[in-house]
Amino acid sequence: MVSRCANPGCEANFKYLREGRLFQFRAANSAGGFAASNAAIELWWLCSRCCLSMTLVEDGAEGVKLIPLARGPQSVRADLGRSKSG
Ligand SMILES: [Zn+2]
Repeated sequence: MVSRCANPGCEANFKYLREGRLFQFRAANSAGGFAASNAAIELWWLCSRCCLSMTLVEDGAEGVKLIPLARGPQSVRADLGRSKSG
């Protein structure tokens, strides 16, 4: 179970599901990759602040990689239309 933000430079602790964003990835298998049917799912969490500027992607060699979100004008516009509740 995740306990803190996947960003190594962030010290946010995981408390609520509604905060931030959860990611599911298949756990990186050790050299060989024979246990395909027994693949574990790893959960990663980015806190509400980090998920605004970063995301996690599956990376073959390292398992999971933290990358900055692409900052396109389209994605910014899309967020403006959303209404906030709660
Ligand atoms: Zn964070």
